[in-house]
Amino acid sequence: MEKIIEISNLTKTYKNLTAVNNLSLNVFKGDVFGFLGPNGAGKSTTIRMLLTLIKPTNGEIKIFDKNLNTNRNEILKKIGAIVEKPDFYGYLTAFKNLEILGKISGCDVSKNKIMGILDLVGLKSRFNSKVKTFSHGMKQRLGIAQALLHDPELIILDEPTTGLDPQGMKEIRDLITLLSKEKNKTIFLSSHILYEVELVANRMVIINKGATKVEGYVNDLLNAANLKVTVGFNPNEFIKSIINESLWQKNIDSITDSKIIFNLTSDQIPDLNKYLVQHDIEVNSIVPMRSLEEYFLDITEKSAS
Ligand code: ADP
Repeated sequence: MEKIIEISNLTKTYKNLTAVNNLSLNVFKGDVFGFLGPNGAGKSTTIRMLLTLIKPTNGEIKIFDKNLNTNRNEILKKIGAIVEKPDFYGYLTAFKNLEILGKISGCDVSKNKIMGILDLVGLKSRFNSKVKTFSHGMKQRLGIAQALLHDPELIILDEPTTGLDPQGMKEIRDLITLLSKEKNKTIFLSSHILYEVELVANRMVIINKGATKVEGYVNDLLNAANLKVTVGFNPNEFIKSIINESLWQKNIDSITDSKIIFNLTSDQIPDLNKYLVQHDIEVNSIVPMRSLEEYFLDITEKSAS
């Protein structure tokens, strides 16, 4: 498989803070690669190094199989990115903005091409509207349009759905899928929301405190057989004692007054359910959670506190 990005032992320190800590990862051609981590995990810092906006303290980045340090311009020509909220001229139309931004960045963009890109990002019908009339979601999509002007092979998006409503988020996801499936772009997408990455990415890493914690194919990671299943009931010692003496006892992860958490595989859930009903145990809820989800929630909560 052709490697598009190869990050090896990348570290970035600010005074006494290590923002990125010995990070390694590979992005392959055609990937929609989810770069997932809680706020402050080091995602933007990594992306800034990928775009040569800041210098690594240590480590190596190769993009398109070339060293980023020594082939900077050649590499950056083939990357499209939105890193911060894109900036547009509000009093000019979407079309005019792209035309000007195209000229500034020195790429030859015909009117047809601009209209084609506006069509791709779902803004064709608004080509002649002033950008100040656009919603946040439309501006984000125009930002992606701008990143596409020079027909890049690799698209880097840093938290592109921040601040969008669910509909706006879905439009960005659909656009990412379209760029990947129909335009054969490789996409590097950072996010702090597992669910969002899960819906579009084929591979991902989870980083925390600047270091890789989990890496792999999204399907494999999320379909991992083990679930934590929380069974909730009204505070009741009797229920606890029945379950503690049953065959399910070995699956117990933890018990409180009003809930028991089990380690189960998904095909065990109906059996547990049957057991509870047969023993007249009234439950309020049975909530399965995938172990990855639980793990991510855990590091997210810890990083927030
Ligand atoms: P993320 O994008 O995952 O939210 P960042 O890469 O923005 O995380 O930040 C990682 C860590 O590095 C944070 O603790 C942040 O405060 C710190 N950091 C980022 N940029 C700077 C900087 N210019 N100077 C000092 N610390 C920084």
